[in-house]
Amino acid sequence: MGAYDIYYGFAPENGWCKVVADRTFIQRTFPSAIILLLGTVALALVFRRAFCGWICPLGAMQELFATLGRRLRWRRPTHDNKIDGSLRWMKYLLLFFILFFTYRTGELVFSPYDPWASYAHLAGGWGEISEEFLIGTIILVAALLGSMFIDRPFCRYLCPLGALLGVISKLGAARVVRNEETCRHCQRCDQVCPVDIKVESMVQVRTSECLSCGECIAACPVPQTLEFRAPRRVVSPLVLGAATLAIFFGIVLATQCAGVWKARPDSLTEITGQGVTLDAANIRGFMSLNDIERTYGVPAGELIRRLGLPGDTDQTKPVKDVMKPLERDVQEIRDAVAMFIEQ
Ligand code: SF4
Ligand code: SF4
Repeated sequence: MGAYDIYYGFAPENGWCKVVADRTFIQRTFPSAIILLLGTVALALVFRRAFCGWICPLGAMQELFATLGRRLRWRRPTHDNKIDGSLRWMKYLLLFFILFFTYRTGELVFSPYDPWASYAHLAGGWGEISEEFLIGTIILVAALLGSMFIDRPFCRYLCPLGALLGVISKLGAARVVRNEETCRHCQRCDQVCPVDIKVESMVQVRTSECLSCGECIAACPVPQTLEFRAPRRVVSPLVLGAATLAIFFGIVLATQCAGVWKARPDSLTEITGQGVTLDAANIRGFMSLNDIERTYGVPAGELIRRLGLPGDTDQTKPVKDVMKPLERDVQEIRDAVAMFIEQ
């Protein structure tokens, strides 16, 4: 189970949008991605946006850069609450556009701009991300550097997954609750909230912006004044975090043990048996000839022969690394595979 399988499984355009678009799975949307998606949605129903607050690696990286900014004592600009509030709507708009255009085109429209995809391919090096995820990488870097001046900018303004979980979290009953009678109005809760929620002025934090991170509860100096209340019980921040991780990774582990988890197809027959149309345009530079053989049913040896590649070509190498030294383009592989499929 690689990071790509986990994180890319969450990317809206790689899972549920495509399912919405043509009511089937594409070759890169396997049970693992759907399980991760359903697990995240289930988590949102129980603990609201606890995924954003406790699991999301992009959120964690933004927190890390925010801490770095504070350590360096970089001055944080004061921001206008009205402008901030208006900008937060962008992520909902983005979610709408992604759903709409994916539905209309059946294409993964968000992919080149997706910092998650860029993050998941960091290990592939600059060559890989500059070729396929350059804009996503620019957004990722901007979000991380921006975190040094404003907390969680990507979560606040741009994350479509956060927007989706925020909408779903409205259906859940759990939330942060403040006891007005014991509150000292010290505003420590407001100061630590990473998304600038004015907890001190609320009796219940109902907003979909809340990440269920528990920071405000941990910072409150008066016991039992600020609590995370799930139906029928109060949950401490520690238990909230532990339960979030247990639910999420428990689902992953349970489905793996049950043999339901699958991040790759077993065979071409299995893919086409799902009514999936194979499209050579989906071939990416990070795939190897063996990956292409497994997914498209084109024998690696046959591709090497058709493309006139050296006989000792490494079939496990990313195809971009095979083609680049030969001053050839990955598109040639797409064309060859497309011709093979059409035969
Ligand atoms: S930190 Fe606690 S006591 Fe202080 S304002 Fe918030 S809820 Fe009230
Ligand atoms: S600090 Fe409190 S109000 Fe702010 S996101 Fe975390 S749990 Fe929600």
